[in-house]
Amino acid sequence: MPQPHILKITEIFPSIQGEGLRQGENTLFIRLSGCNLKCSFCDTKYAWQEGKKYPTAQVLEEIKTLKRRFPARWVCLTGGEPLVQDVSELVKGLKEEGFKVQVETNATFYRPLPVDWYSISPKPDKYNYRPEYREKAREVKIILTKNLDFELIRQLRKEFPERTPLLLQPQSNRKWSVELGLKLLRQALTAEQKNIKISIQLHKIFSLR
Ligand code: SF4
Repeated sequence: MPQPHILKITEIFPSIQGEGLRQGENTLFIRLSGCNLKCSFCDTKYAWQEGKKYPTAQVLEEIKTLKRRFPARWVCLTGGEPLVQDVSELVKGLKEEGFKVQVETNATFYRPLPVDWYSISPKPDKYNYRPEYREKAREVKIILTKNLDFELIRQLRKEFPERTPLLLQPQSNRKWSVELGLKLLRQALTAEQKNIKISIQLHKIFSLR
């Protein structure tokens, strides 16, 4: 008998999308366990752990149950790094249930999946990402770290089409990070770089999950 496909999951929960252009929308989150990077500023280090083992079918059942009390059209796969694991069956199942699927990824993995919204966030200091995302990403989030300079932003702006926004994201809304974001935004405007925005983490302001 074929074994069910198992996913390692940290948590499944309903909330409001706090980041990026989908900010403010009801969303069901599936936080997958594990990450191939170990960023010092990571705010979800608890997702680096092994997590709980779930058959994909059970994850889909939990999502359907949650939807009954928290109507949401979108499901967001986040982490950790959700694409470390093979989420093909999960994404397919979510689409069959009529959900829109967002994936938040550090962009070092790519899987050809029917995903509606790739939200990518390449990480320092190399900012590596898979080339498929140049066309596929709907937004590029750049976390505002102390060493981030304008040249990197200019470089990324060149590499992604102008329709794809670059979102400068302060680190947990910290003051120094917000100030750096505003400074870089001014430099972007002066250098006539298009579609660069500063962003906030709404869930941290509203103390949401
Ligand atoms: S890629 Fe994301 S989840 Fe992974 S360590 Fe870095 S910030 Fe954390």
